[in-house]
Amino acid sequence: MRAMVLRRASEKLVMEERPEPQPGPGEVRLRVEACGVCRTDLHVVDGELPNPKLPIVPGHEIVGRVEAVGPGATLAIGARVGAPWLGHTCGHCRYCASGRENLCDAPLFNGYMRDGGFASHVVVDAAYAFPLAESLDPVAAAPLLCAGLIGWRSLKIAGEAERIGLYGFGAAAHIVAQLCRWQGRRVFAFTRDGDLASQKFALSLDAEWAGGSSEAPAEPLDAAIIFAPVGALVPAALAAVAKGGRVVCGGIHMSDIPAFPYSLLWGERSVASVANLTRADGFELLELAARVGVRTTTRAYPLEAANEALADLREGRLEGAAVLTP
Ligand SMILES: [Zn+2]
Ligand SMILES: [Zn+2]
Repeated sequence: MRAMVLRRASEKLVMEERPEPQPGPGEVRLRVEACGVCRTDLHVVDGELPNPKLPIVPGHEIVGRVEAVGPGATLAIGARVGAPWLGHTCGHCRYCASGRENLCDAPLFNGYMRDGGFASHVVVDAAYAFPLAESLDPVAAAPLLCAGLIGWRSLKIAGEAERIGLYGFGAAAHIVAQLCRWQGRRVFAFTRDGDLASQKFALSLDAEWAGGSSEAPAEPLDAAIIFAPVGALVPAALAAVAKGGRVVCGGIHMSDIPAFPYSLLWGERSVASVANLTRADGFELLELAARVGVRTTTRAYPLEAANEALADLREGRLEGAAVLTP
């Protein structure tokens, strides 16, 4: 098999030829059809997340077909499945026992603690893979598996907000905007200041307003979701939400949040973070995306161009999501 491997943090990924991995109990080997590139992959590569398995194959928006089945795994050979960030949980900690496996005390994440999908093949825990329809296009479906999932969980935590602000209009926001419009919400899109291309992209997805993140929206928001890893957006978003408004941080890593006056939080405004996903989130989102007819905007790269895809994401050169195909 071929894999793009991170040997040490902050280095470029290196193509390696490896023997095909054999699935253990409960596992399956997938032949990868497509794997999305997520901002979390950038945080792994840049060494911004603690204790990755090294060397590691990044990638946790995996669409593939089951090629080999380990003992006890219940997926059929040839089935198309999606493997997300959540690769395994302990099943018995207080979080797992209370329906909050996203907060498990001993989780394994694909592309971080288990080798992920920047490869021709990957072994995943079958119990954490989602069956995917034959009719799906693998490249179009890949961004649903993290950008879509985390976006959906963030939207649920944002609550019943009619006017919703999306800070950072990338892979996640372009999916969430479509879900919001379907739900009858009003979408306000915030991009890097001066990023007119992303603002135009947001308006093309029925955002009612688009502007730079230092701008005030045309009217106060009921909630905001921050997808960009920029701590200064927290006080900016608090300033943009009305009384009772919630600001949800959807990313796994963010630069430090600058001090801000209590008056920004006053009025029962709140700040929350979203961590990982539950499998229930995944089933919900995949069903909803099909019903809504979510259309992802993607740029496909060959597997060996993973470093270019990561660089394009880092520099904000993408519209929608980057997806690798082996
Ligand atoms: Zn657990
Ligand atoms: Zn992700």
